Amino acid sequence: MDCIFCKIVEKEAPSNIAYEDDKILAFHDLQPQAPVHVLIIPKKHISSLDEVSFDDAEIMGWLMAKVKDIAKDLGLENGYRLVCNCGKDGLQTVNHIHFHLLGKRQMKWPPG
Ligand code: AMP
Ligand code: ZN
Repeated sequence: MDCIFCKIVEKEAPSNIAYEDDKILAFHDLQPQAPVHVLIIPKKHISSLDEVSFDDAEIMGWLMAKVKDIAKDLGLENGYRLVCNCGKDGLQTVNHIHFHLLGKRQMKWPPG
């Protein structure tokens, strides 16, 4: 499958890994939008939020429960933002579900 994030999982493409276990991977975004900007992904290929099934509950729950630990390791003690873009209107550009973990600056609201 021609998926850049699957290639990163398989170590067939380079990345700067922030956290890894048997279920998920977090790596630094190539074009950071904040002083800390990592992408957290399930190792399993799931295209987007639209494709998450109840069979994925364990892996997605694991990912969510790991967010705070990854944030803590990255020094985000003042808080952070977790973003998941979905589909065309959501401006999703990579079709392997990923959560942007952004921090170390004051965020704005509403997003553009
Ligand atoms: P999205 O627009 O939500 O699909 O976000 C995709 C993100 O992946 C963007 O922030 C890109 O900068 C990032 N990205 C794309 N390719 C890579 C890569 N090979 N390594 C790290 N980040 C990447
Ligand atoms: Zn993939």
